[in-house]
Order: sequence, then structure tokens, then C-alpha cells
Amino acid sequence: MLLFIPVTFLKTSKGKTHIKVGSHTFYARGGNCKKESQRWCCTQNKYCRARLHVENNAIVAIFNHHNHEKK
Ligand SMILES: [Zn+2]
Repeated sequence: MLLFIPVTFLKTSKGKTHIKVGSHTFYARGGNCKKESQRWCCTQNKYCRARLHVENNAIVAIFNHHNHEKK
């Protein structure tokens, strides 16, 4: 099922990378960088619980459940 979600890597004007999944966009969240894996969060709402898990530049998990309206 995850394989059918279109995923696009975007570059922002500030040189950061965002990942677009379907109609939502995610950013790499700072913080604990000891592990190889990284959590990516929804850019549209900081309380949104949708997450991406990225390991070694590959998306290993998608939680694409948003608790807000699409912009
Ligand atoms: Zn969201």
C-alpha cells in the first residue's frame, strides 16, 4: 500500500530538503541525530501526528494520518 503513495523530494529556497507525500509535505526534524534514522514531520501543522521515518536516505515508514485540513 505504501508503494502507491507518490513521494517527491523538494528543495526549499533556504536549501533544506522537504519530502512531499501525496498532498502533504514533511521536513527533517532536528534534535537527536545520534541514530541513522530520522523523523520527518508535517510542515503544515506542528501538532500533526503524521510522520516519516527515514534511514540512510530511504523512507522506511510512513504514518500519513493528518489531524488537520489540507492547505
Ligand atoms: Zn499533517
